[in-house]
Amino acid sequence: MKVQLPVHKQEKRTGVVADLTYQGNGVIKVDHYPIFLPNALPGEEVTFVVTKLTKNFAWGRVLEWHSKSPDRVDLKDQRYLQTGIAPLGHLAYPAQLAFKRKLIVDLLQKAHLDLPVAETMGMKRPDHYRNKAQVPVKLIRGKLTTGFYKRGSHDLVPIEDFYIQDPKIDQAILAVRNVARQYRLTPYDEEHHRGDLRTIMVRRGYYSHQVMVVLVTRTAKLSHREEIVAAIRERVPELTSLIQNVNGQRTNKLLGLENHVLWGQATIEDQLLGIDFKISPLSFYQVNPQQTERLYQTAIDQAELDGSQTVIDAYCGIGTISLAVAKHAKQVYGVEIVPEAIADAKQNAEYNGIENAEFVVGKAEEQMQKWQAVGLKPDVLIVDPPRKGLDESLIEAAGKMGPQKVIYVSCNPATLVRDLVRFQAAGYRVSKPIQPVDQFPQTTHVESVTLLEKMN
Ligand code: SAH
Repeated sequence: MKVQLPVHKQEKRTGVVADLTYQGNGVIKVDHYPIFLPNALPGEEVTFVVTKLTKNFAWGRVLEWHSKSPDRVDLKDQRYLQTGIAPLGHLAYPAQLAFKRKLIVDLLQKAHLDLPVAETMGMKRPDHYRNKAQVPVKLIRGKLTTGFYKRGSHDLVPIEDFYIQDPKIDQAILAVRNVARQYRLTPYDEEHHRGDLRTIMVRRGYYSHQVMVVLVTRTAKLSHREEIVAAIRERVPELTSLIQNVNGQRTNKLLGLENHVLWGQATIEDQLLGIDFKISPLSFYQVNPQQTERLYQTAIDQAELDGSQTVIDAYCGIGTISLAVAKHAKQVYGVEIVPEAIADAKQNAEYNGIENAEFVVGKAEEQMQKWQAVGLKPDVLIVDPPRKGLDESLIEAAGKMGPQKVIYVSCNPATLVRDLVRFQAAGYRVSKPIQPVDQFPQTTHVESVTLLEKMN
């Protein structure tokens, strides 16, 4: 059956942008049929051309602005929008914070949940905040080039100032790029699965200033190895760890499993809320250290710990929340699905002399049932799940264990709202305004902390 769509491809139209989607695109509706427009803000009158049609929606490109939003800022480089490095880079920061709060408010309303949402906790300087970069390397006009992919493609856009990364990281990437050019490393060619260097990854400790550089190569061979190591050491002054990571697969995954220390240490260190963490190339570590501290502090404050409580940290990663909480609790239990992360968590506990934290590898939803079966009675349950949110069985087990407080750290408002409905059914109520914390300025990611308390 052929569906009659209200617009056709290449059609030009003029209209007023009605809303901003959770992906940061403007939307104009023609007979209820939405057309998504990158770089268009609510209230702006624009002329656009329809570029792509599907049954349920279309994409368009703005050709001309007849009016501009008071919330629009001049993004100095359009490439930040094109690549998705900063999909909200054209929106003033206070409006970004309001946008993130509104996403949660709208989802709550749709679910008929009447709950207050606090103002989004933002950054004073919402740029150059990331402590980690993973930059693809490609051949462009005969030169090894670093940059970022255009949204939805593998076309590399050359970029030197990445806008949201620690500037010292940008400098390190350029230094490594120049060394790679000098020693004629060949950039990886996806199509033919040839070439040496695939990705350059750099991490820098926010407090420690230790820098880790990871060269992701297709094979273990690295010609001019000694010269390359010496040149990178010379040009990256804060270098603490230089790693070669071998990724021989045809894959979109950035890192392989094989690491070789080329120079220095196998890990770098940094601190979060006064706890030392060792970070290896494959470890998950929060990318916005300043806001992570505020996020965790919010969670810790809401738990109101006085040293007498038992706490479960489900989805604990390398134990960042668990170890920050341990100082204020009697006993902490962490569970996480990635074995390497749990190994890091145990090491980090030992390294900090923390003896009241225990870590288990497993699925949170299964481990919760096991703990429940052996009679563990936590006072506080902290959850920090991935985007898909909580498994229903976890909420069920939590309901049976009956912790007084549940603290839900969420990176996806849609699953948060779904799970809050389920927690209510399990006998919990939200007892403080939901607190959004901006972990990723200039992007559309929304993190928040919600306190639930058991109804007696
Ligand atoms: N709290 C940590 C990590 C949060 S990210 C921090 O702030 O650093 C979410 C974590 O959940 C990831 O480490 C991921 O590996 C883990 N994870 C994903 N699915 C899981 C599951 N079913 N059970 C336990 N952990 C899971």
